[in-house]
Amino acid sequence: MASGHFIEGIAGGRLSAEQYADNFSDLHPPLDHHEALVEADRCYFCYDAPCMNACPTSIDIPMFIRQIATGNPLGSAKTIFDQNILGGMCARVCPTETLCEEVCVREVAEGKPVQIGRLQRYATDVAMSEEKQFYKRAEPTGKTVAVVGAGPSGLAAAHRLARHGHDVTILEARPKAGGLNEYGIAAYKSVDDFAQAEVDYVTSIGGIDIQNGKALGRDFQLADLIRNYDAVFLGLGLGGVNALRADGEEADGVANAVEFIAELRQASDLSGLPVGRRVVVIGGGMTAIDAAVQSKLLGAEEVTVCYRRGQEHMNASGFEQDLAAANGVTIRHWLQPKRVIAENGKVSAIELEYTAMNGDKLAGTGERLTLAADQVFKAIGQSFVPAHLNGSVDSIELVGGRIKVDAGGRTSLAKVWAGGDCIFGGDDLTVSAVAQGRDAAESIHRALTSNGRA
Ligand SMILES: Cc1cc2nc3c(=O)[nH]c(=O)nc-3n(C[C@H](O)[C@H](O)[C@H](O)COP(=O)(O)OP(=O)(O)OC[C@H]3O[C@@H](n4cnc5c(N)ncnc54)[C@H](O)[C@@H]3O)c2cc1C
Ligand code: SF4
Repeated sequence: MASGHFIEGIAGGRLSAEQYADNFSDLHPPLDHHEALVEADRCYFCYDAPCMNACPTSIDIPMFIRQIATGNPLGSAKTIFDQNILGGMCARVCPTETLCEEVCVREVAEGKPVQIGRLQRYATDVAMSEEKQFYKRAEPTGKTVAVVGAGPSGLAAAHRLARHGHDVTILEARPKAGGLNEYGIAAYKSVDDFAQAEVDYVTSIGGIDIQNGKALGRDFQLADLIRNYDAVFLGLGLGGVNALRADGEEADGVANAVEFIAELRQASDLSGLPVGRRVVVIGGGMTAIDAAVQSKLLGAEEVTVCYRRGQEHMNASGFEQDLAAANGVTIRHWLQPKRVIAENGKVSAIELEYTAMNGDKLAGTGERLTLAADQVFKAIGQSFVPAHLNGSVDSIELVGGRIKVDAGGRTSLAKVWAGGDCIFGGDDLTVSAVAQGRDAAESIHRALTSNGRA
């Protein structure tokens, strides 16, 4: 029962303090020692393990699970961190159901995979709680690298570069490091300020200086970095949000889902966060589901996700869709937004049009539906903002609106690498951003040490 203010429309304090705490607690509680041993024992330690091949960071999964099974969680954590220094966050946020656990032979044989994600969390939690560091910096090389953006790709690149003895400066626009780990991931996937604990863990290797409040394109230009550093890594993420292209979308109460989530992640008191009674989320990906589920957990009465294609086309995984359903979110398919209906400048409903495939093209059928709403979230995709790259250098080659890189993360511009969501061809996952940051760091290292110049 709602216990807060009874204000029509958008308000905070809809639930009791206990309900907020309960709703936003850990989605997958950690395994205890005994549970981890039992779960590790289920692994067949497969030769040429399919789970390992499915991991974008190629963690030696059978090896780390065997180390847990033999009572060596620290060794297990090292196996994970060797490939993925953000293995703690990936254990929490990876859609394992479409990666390692989907192909686990136990899943294929009996529909119940080894819980690889939870085992990874167990091992990395042990190492982090014991403040166990596995890596020392190599002798200083005297080379300097600027990393722009302190998200997963930037942090992974910085750590690997620091390991090789290079001096890294991370320039980050926002007040805190972590990128979407800090500002985007659903609150119930990363509790207890884990994102900041992980930033501290990663940077404690030394040789990484994070400067917050420094934005490329505003406080400095790419040309400055190229001039002042031996190499540059861009881990800028996606700063733009796609528009609904529906009439009236500027009405009060219509907001970007990513901004709502960022506000939620930074709120010290969830009861102060306004949420509508009837929330409509437009989109079909992880962001749409996260905005919908968190709206419901904040106390919204009706939450509906509207997606313009069918269930099979949704980017959100089956697990995410089930999570939404379990939390009382309704997902409706084959609907596209046409018009935001406002009263006194404030959204009161949204008009949608049914869609259908016309050959291989999606088209509106002309039939309309109106859903009452006091809050509408746009979650129909994010885009890269190339304007940050403006400056006195030739612009970097883009493809599909994102930065074009080679297999090692090199851009078309000498001395400049890139990785994570801002590059073309990725899959917009935390774990992939980590893999790309790490691999670009190796490419930078090779370039800096082969002839001293990137
Ligand atoms: C709401 C939401 C939920 C998600 N949930 C999941 C999930 O559960 N699991 C999963 O695997 N993936 C999830 N993702 C995707 C995942 O978060 C991203 O793929 C990942 O964070 C990409 O890392 P990145 O380092 O490329 O970019 P980001 O994490 O976006 O980091 C980029 C950093 O660059 C900084 N920056 C940007 N422009 C500038 C500039 N001009 N100057 C200086 N700094 C700048 C930003 O402030 C930011 O800190 C989610 C994404 C969103 C939006
Ligand atoms: S596929 Fe499953 S059973 Fe085989 S090694 Fe990986 S986790 Fe173990």
